[in-house]
Amino acid sequence: MVVKQVFSDFDGTLTLHDELTTHFHEILELLKGHSVPLVICTGRSKSWAHFLLTHFFDLEYVISEGGGSLTYVEKDKEGRRHLKDVTLVSDEMTTKLQFVAKELIEKFPVSLSVDSFGRHTDRAIELSDLKKDAHLNQEVRAFLLSHKVNFSTSNVHLNFWCGEISKIKAIKTYLEKYKKNKLEETIFFGDSLNDETVFKDHPNTVGVSNIDKVLDQLEHKPTLILKGRENVGPLGVLNYLKSLLK
Ligand SMILES: [Mg+2]
Repeated sequence: MVVKQVFSDFDGTLTLHDELTTHFHEILELLKGHSVPLVICTGRSKSWAHFLLTHFFDLEYVISEGGGSLTYVEKDKEGRRHLKDVTLVSDEMTTKLQFVAKELIEKFPVSLSVDSFGRHTDRAIELSDLKKDAHLNQEVRAFLLSHKVNFSTSNVHLNFWCGEISKIKAIKTYLEKYKKNKLEETIFFGDSLNDETVFKDHPNTVGVSNIDKVLDQLEHKPTLILKGRENVGPLGVLNYLKSLLK
């Protein structure tokens, strides 16, 4: 396969046991050497997209908030980098989310996660707050359902959002609008439940070996699943890309 573009999840896929290691730089160098762009697709807030694009000059686009937001770099005549945000859901949906989030924290004894501060198209509640009280957990979920708010859980958060937001939808929008590459000319790396929409609809997906923790919870699995300690997170991404980009 001739790969023209790489997409990758961030936490657990490009980070090793929560740490950003030198492997990440090796991945950037390898892709740069083959002129293959990398677009990170993360569930983290838009502020993280700003951080990544500010400090890693090999990156030009980052998809964040699970697909709700796309940030890109525009260069001026002097070559200075300026960041531009594109919101991938309507203003109506982000406004609705604002109201629902406010009502939720007024109504229930839960608080939004600290990183909800930087979020625009989704919000998060600490799962630990909900796990303490099964009844509360049920009530919060029923509240979100009754307001037609979508939600999913990671290992730390219950994320919720309004409108149609997913990593695969954001990837398709990005390809159509900015790159004109076909989906089948690209590859995606991931490790978790919030990558599932991509595993479902993308023809070339790779799960790094730590995906084994959630494999039985995934209805749609990656096309290829790497195995072994040598393929955890960025080690797996690096090994696979080395074998692909010869
Ligand atoms: Mg992940």
